[in-house]
Amino acid sequence: MSKFSNYNFKDQKALVRVDFNVPLNENLEITSDARMRAAVPTIKKILGDGGKVILMSHLGRPKTGPEDKFSLRHLVAHLSELLDGAPVLFANDCIGEQAYLTADMMRPGEVLLLENLRFYKEEEKGDEAFAEKLAKLGDVYVNDAFGTAHRAHASTAIIAKFFPAEKRMFGLLMENEVNSANKVMKEAQKPFTAILGGAKVSDKILIIENLMEKATDIIIGGGMAYTFFKAMGGQIGSSLCEEERLDTAKDILTKAKEKGVNIHLPVDSVVADKFDANANTKVSKSDAIEEGWMGLDVADEARKQFGDVIKASKTILWNGPMGVFEMEKFQAGTKAIAEAVAEATQNGAFSLVGGGDSVSAVNKFGFKTKVSYVSTGGGAMLEFFEGKELPGIAAVNA
Ligand code: AMP
Repeated sequence: MSKFSNYNFKDQKALVRVDFNVPLNENLEITSDARMRAAVPTIKKILGDGGKVILMSHLGRPKTGPEDKFSLRHLVAHLSELLDGAPVLFANDCIGEQAYLTADMMRPGEVLLLENLRFYKEEEKGDEAFAEKLAKLGDVYVNDAFGTAHRAHASTAIIAKFFPAEKRMFGLLMENEVNSANKVMKEAQKPFTAILGGAKVSDKILIIENLMEKATDIIIGGGMAYTFFKAMGGQIGSSLCEEERLDTAKDILTKAKEKGVNIHLPVDSVVADKFDANANTKVSKSDAIEEGWMGLDVADEARKQFGDVIKASKTILWNGPMGVFEMEKFQAGTKAIAEAVAEATQNGAFSLVGGGDSVSAVNKFGFKTKVSYVSTGGGAMLEFFEGKELPGIAAVNA
């Protein structure tokens, strides 16, 4: 059992950092409450123990102090609904008299939501004095905001030192994220296949380099594959290419050979005569694409080869789509990979999908429940894959 699950929160004021950075429309209504829902199990466990929950979060990017459109006040009613009607109080300043008084007067089973942390510039600066003021609100600190774990902000990292080790911990969401990421990055069973896609090599270099130390196989699809084909002397037509990364691509291929890591590139591509949902398409070898045509998805032979590698894997990490999956004509490659990952998972592999667009692809194609874990933390998970220590995790573990 985890530290959080074992902890008895009875009569304790739990100061919980959540990621309630939800999208609001122009009427200040929540358009997706997924991030709020993700924190509900943690909140309910504390309330169920007879504890008091003080929630702190950021919302949007306020520039110069308080602004109504970034107020967490707009979340109060819906939060109470998600908590089966539990009373949710609100403090219109995350520090200061009202917040302290309300926190002190709370009864077990009550929730207090604090106003947006980023109304203070000290939050993003990781200001110690500000973190200390926040820390005074609670008896125990719970970090359940994996989405901001890669930031050394006052509420996500600096604050932890104001609580003794036994009174700082991860919440259930954060525990799941960290355990899943560790299963892949620290305890991977082999064969371990990393599937990397998306638009740019430059965004993924650090990840590829780190994974080369851990994975047995790296599948490279999406727009970034064409920089590799060009680096090997192939013809890629007007496919995406980062000229200034050709040497990097060559280095990666050489290093992989030295380390015995298999790099798999898509042998064939679905090519289009323009970047458009209604473009004319045909299949081409990926290293012999005619002028005026661009590779926008991986084609049949590549899908089969990738699928065979994936299905033979015991650990799978997937970041980035195989093609322009937002357009119907170019989504079959990404779908085929999702199917292969689902099949491998059913046969006992551990599969983690993380970081931005691959998460939306998996959700869009209905594979969310067919993979082992879908991460909620875009940037944080990417930094984890890059092998960086995340400040939000380090501070709690210190
Ligand atoms: P990233 O944020 O780097 O994971 O990139 C995701 C984006 O890459 C998606 O919007 C895809 O449409 C895009 N993408 C994937 N494959 C290609 C491709 N072959 N050409 C251009 N864009 C692509």
